[in-house]
Amino acid sequence: MDRNLDIIPVSKWGFFDESIPPLVIAGPCSAESELQVMMTAKGLHEFGIHVYRAGIWKPRTHPGSFEGVGTQGLKWLRKVKEEFGMKVCTEVASEKHVFECIKYGIDMVWIGARTTANPFLVQEIADALQDTDIPVLVKNPVNPDIDLWIGALERLNRAGVKKLGVIHRGFSTSEKIPYRNNPLWQFAVELRTRYPELPVFADPSHMGGARKYVQPLSQRAMDLGFDGLMVESHCDPSCALSDASQQLVPEDLRKMLESLTVRRKSTDDKEYNDSIGQLRTQIDVIDENLLELLKSRMDISKKIGGFKKAHNIAIVQASRWDSILSSMIGKGREYGLSEEFVTAVFTAIHEASVDAQNKILEG
Ligand code: PEP
Ligand code: MN
Repeated sequence: MDRNLDIIPVSKWGFFDESIPPLVIAGPCSAESELQVMMTAKGLHEFGIHVYRAGIWKPRTHPGSFEGVGTQGLKWLRKVKEEFGMKVCTEVASEKHVFECIKYGIDMVWIGARTTANPFLVQEIADALQDTDIPVLVKNPVNPDIDLWIGALERLNRAGVKKLGVIHRGFSTSEKIPYRNNPLWQFAVELRTRYPELPVFADPSHMGGARKYVQPLSQRAMDLGFDGLMVESHCDPSCALSDASQQLVPEDLRKMLESLTVRRKSTDDKEYNDSIGQLRTQIDVIDENLLELLKSRMDISKKIGGFKKAHNIAIVQASRWDSILSSMIGKGREYGLSEEFVTAVFTAIHEASVDAQNKILEG
């Protein structure tokens, strides 16, 4: 199956001012009133934000919570477009939402985390967008399943949506973490690697769930080379009808953006490129050596498996594994390698050995 995506680069969408990275989408969690929508847009427009977000239909956990103002909010977004010349976007979760957005001239839509997790809805949205030129940003699904995320991109792409991007907003977790959603940055990094043309945004607001985390999470996204940010901003967050604790007033968003160090993706500097090239070659050589060592280790482990089988001995000897791990953790510490890292590496190696020995026992 063809798993490539046919993407029009974000620089050709005509949405963002690329001269001052990152690309920024900002606006309230929800459109609440015409006044709130216009006041917030004015504050953001004043310091050069070009793309405005506001939720019109809100997916809420509990019935009876504020579920969005519905179609009337689209008229307010149209007014933002007319008055400030900003591009406007909102979340769609059904074909009906898409048709309403088309009717009101919404420039871009995003698919929320709960919807990305539902292929029926994603397909319905993709079909409704078929003959349009509207860019679509796909938030990660609530659960950490990269294939579900990619599947949504594929459905949209097959329906002809080529102005595609993703928004990393973190993943639901039952673990105790400081954030509202677990960042699991490696998922977005993997998407970047697989689809270099795909613009990747971070949503530090829903990831952090609190104002104080917006800056550090945004900086982390910049350090990882994300293209842009979607940040919630409200003219009066304390009165917000949804996500009050994570929204920034426009002025604080301006300061937050100014504080970011944006890393360049590449440079023409010859000295830098030569040094990086040499260091990467050294890494490649070490990686090959590591693989050879792992293979030798596995060969020995299989021999041990054969002996265990011949003498009818159980595969896992817990005390032996505990002593390997604690000795490696101790040595690792001397080399400045964290316990977490050493444990992860050796657990993976041990699991593969046990699997191989199991196969020998069964064979
Ligand atoms: C939102 O962006 O307002 C939203 C509901 O986000 P998510 O789908 O990431 O929860
Ligand atoms: Mn929100």
